[in-house]
Amino acid sequence: MRAMSMHVPIRPDWICAACGLPWPCMTRKRQLVTEYHGAYVSMMLHLSGFFIEACQAMPVVASGVLHRRFLGWRCELPAGVGWQSAPAGHARPCPAK
Ligand SMILES: [Zn+2]
Repeated sequence: MRAMSMHVPIRPDWICAACGLPWPCMTRKRQLVTEYHGAYVSMMLHLSGFFIEACQAMPVVASGVLHRRFLGWRCELPAGVGWQSAPAGHARPCPAK
């Protein structure tokens, strides 16, 4: 059985239940990367469902902003965490920092 994360979204504002930050918070992002290790596409499919739900729940927020928040955070992770370089063909390379 998989351990439950306390860093779950509180709807409809999509705020983290554990730390009060916009979800997914950095802790949850790290957890997701660990949970979906080696399954980048599966993680993106999982997050895509949340992205669609959030777009419906927050119609005044630009979809581009929500897209970055839910799906575009890979490049925000510290070096060595997650898919700084995603599997070939699955994502654009992260821009140089
Ligand atoms: Zn959190």
